[in-house]
Amino acid sequence: MRTMIKYLFTLLICICFISNPFAQTNLLITNPEVDNILKGNYDPLSYLQTLTIDNPAAISLGLLDNVTADSLQSYLNSLVSFVNRNSGSDTLSDSIGIGAARRWAYNKFQTFSLANENRLRTSYFQFDQNICAVNQHKSVLAVLPGLDTSNHQIVLVEAHLDSRCEMSCDTSCIANGADDNGSGSVLVLELARVLSNYTFNNTIVFMLTTGEEQGLWGSKAFSQYAFINNIPIKVVQNNDIVGGTICGERSSPPSCPGVSEIDSNNIRIFSQGINFSKNKQYARYIKMQYYDMLEPLMKVPMSINIMDGEDRTGRGGDHIPFRQKGYTAVRFTSSHEHGDGHPEIMGYTDHQHTVKDVIGLDTDFDNKIDSFFIDFRYLRRNAIINGNAIAMAAQAVNTPTFDLNNSFGGMYITILSELQYLSYKIMVRTNTNDFVGIYGLDGSINRFVPNTLTDSTYYISVAAMDKNGIESIFSQEQMAIAIADGPINTNVDVLNTNSQLVFENISFKNGYLYLFVHSNNSSQEKLEFHLTDLLGRTIMKSEKTIMPYENNIVLNLPSIREGFYFMSMIRENVVIGTKKIFIY
Ligand SMILES: [Zn+2]
Repeated sequence: MRTMIKYLFTLLICICFISNPFAQTNLLITNPEVDNILKGNYDPLSYLQTLTIDNPAAISLGLLDNVTADSLQSYLNSLVSFVNRNSGSDTLSDSIGIGAARRWAYNKFQTFSLANENRLRTSYFQFDQNICAVNQHKSVLAVLPGLDTSNHQIVLVEAHLDSRCEMSCDTSCIANGADDNGSGSVLVLELARVLSNYTFNNTIVFMLTTGEEQGLWGSKAFSQYAFINNIPIKVVQNNDIVGGTICGERSSPPSCPGVSEIDSNNIRIFSQGINFSKNKQYARYIKMQYYDMLEPLMKVPMSINIMDGEDRTGRGGDHIPFRQKGYTAVRFTSSHEHGDGHPEIMGYTDHQHTVKDVIGLDTDFDNKIDSFFIDFRYLRRNAIINGNAIAMAAQAVNTPTFDLNNSFGGMYITILSELQYLSYKIMVRTNTNDFVGIYGLDGSINRFVPNTLTDSTYYISVAAMDKNGIESIFSQEQMAIAIADGPINTNVDVLNTNSQLVFENISFKNGYLYLFVHSNNSSQEKLEFHLTDLLGRTIMKSEKTIMPYENNIVLNLPSIREGFYFMSMIRENVVIGTKKIFIY
């Protein structure tokens, strides 16, 4: 009995020391140059383009012109040829297994780099962890060093390279993993090829992780590496299952409609949190950048769906360990999935996590695949949306902070930091995941956003816009409870009774707006008058000196159109009165 206890005790100690399931050890970027770039220890001049191309419109157009379905298909043909990319599979063979697959990916990154002045630097990220009885693993990454090393932020676009069959450690089955996650892997490769034609402020990291299928080990290890080395990751875009358009018999909720239904126009972005979530804010940023830069140019427009959850019900992915470390992270997944990844359940006929996750089938037995499960044109569109978002995030300046004052008929917003920019944007959201409006700030740091909506609660955030028109990532949201409008064309709408002002008798005649302001203050003061339309656009701003007692204000508006407007009176950046008026 004593021997037994001693044996169990020794076994327990051994388990604790050998396989701590919660931490990977010996985290190592194998290329020291890449390690230094990630840590911000590099001279950006060493990686300059001969001819710098950093214009956002040129980058978006470059993605549209150069990301091709043929490239994506050719990479995926190569990836599935390694038969099994299980994290515990062969690492020595040149033709089969995860080792051959990651060496092929490494060489791809290097080939892209050679075509682009060798600006893309490639490395493995090695870590120790027992996965499927193999103790050491390697993710593959390439970095495109950014110009701005002042805060050395990095943006990360990634996908897991590993695949699996029904048994999570089966290293001899056919585990093509075409959609899960060859699709995401080839998307990341294609973006590395195309985006290395351009120059960015922040370093872009293109990464293919390993060990995802057994517990997100690759992303756990890299997020841990970033965390302990104080590497400021600005955003993470995880791509996992992004090429399939066919709905299987089962799919993880929120599910697709039913067997063989096809959708090649929707993409889903999953992210943690609801209100005040920086992950959701980034999902909205991706969507806004799509509308701003791509949507007018897309032959097949896409819908970007900002999903409620961090992932589909009961599922997870590589973005989660990053979010858990405090980084902003989202996941892209196609709208329709072929399966729910649970082949152990009786009667499972779908593709995910099975030998059936292949590119397509040869239906007429001529040794050519003629029926595809991966839609390469859809995958191309997803890659362009991804690349556009990560490119804009990599150019984006710092995010401002702001102050919000709630008032009759709307909100008054003042930018408090990052004041050097010519323009700012205000994102307005109600109780859905999506924004309802994005307003410009017209070169000012103050803005009145009228309450043109019926909802009672608003979530407001701001972004700075640089000289090229790229928005910063949006700020943390602030909440405002809407204050109802006063009745139209009534005389008294003073919201701040301490203001000692009464704002009344607005009329319009022959291009002139007449206001009467009564002041109970004993001294004169300067006030601003802002006229905004129902979309929040500033029509007119004017500063006037208000004397004690009665003031007749006349504002010239020669070419104003008929309609409803808001007239606001502003004292030291605080709205003290707003009236909804009708000009005719
Ligand atoms: Zn996956």
